[in-house]
Amino acid sequence: MKILVIEDEANIVQVIRLYLEQAGYTLLSANDGITGLELHARERPDLVILDLMLPGLDGMEVCRRIRAWATTPILMLTARQSEEDRIAGLELGADDYLVKPFSPRELVSRVKAILRRSVASSADNTKEPLAEQSKPDDKKLYFGNLVINIPARRVMVGKQQVTLTAKEFDLLVALASAPDRVFTRESLLNQVWGYTYLGDGRTVDVHIGTLRKKLEAAHAASPITYQIQTVWGVGYKFVPVTSASTTPPGEE
Ligand code: CA
Repeated sequence: MKILVIEDEANIVQVIRLYLEQAGYTLLSANDGITGLELHARERPDLVILDLMLPGLDGMEVCRRIRAWATTPILMLTARQSEEDRIAGLELGADDYLVKPFSPRELVSRVKAILRRSVASSADNTKEPLAEQSKPDDKKLYFGNLVINIPARRVMVGKQQVTLTAKEFDLLVALASAPDRVFTRESLLNQVWGYTYLGDGRTVDVHIGTLRKKLEAAHAASPITYQIQTVWGVGYKFVPVTSASTTPPGEE
């Protein structure tokens, strides 16, 4: 598995390289944003570790440009003080963040957690044709015009494909797999981010926000058949809105 580190501080790159290579990953590195984008396009890494503070093109812009065409998981590195940066980075489509100074072991466990999910989904993907013939409904979720194809990691609204980041997709699947069930932020963090998080529910809120925006945009031309509802003080739930409930069939 290939990991691209975009960071200008050579000593940080060195530490990241040491720990991730020890864990069996191949490391590529770039010390500015433009080189990072070029490497990303050419090498198609499995994950990007992106520092926000870069000379020239900053990390936010690099994140935006990667997200313009790719869903590669992005782990952001950010300074302790800048909560706004963190939120803005997540809104641009980063999957997770680490605050500097971070422990290299923590970094390795985050990387593993993110990659475990993308590996699991691509393994599912290769089995899809056989599995789908026998059990079609385990692999796709239907809510009116919304179709979530889990092994292909594809979301369609009518004929329009909705491009989601890895975490937005995982969140949608977690919620839509259990309609009407209320999920706490903590349980979504555990389920979607894959480890016990240090209590920052804002990460979930931001991803729910971007997920809602993308789905709403996709529904501009077709009716909404479900809602992702906020349950105040608790978390979120996915609620199907069936047309049958507004106009019961067969009533005379
Ligand atoms: Ca930096």
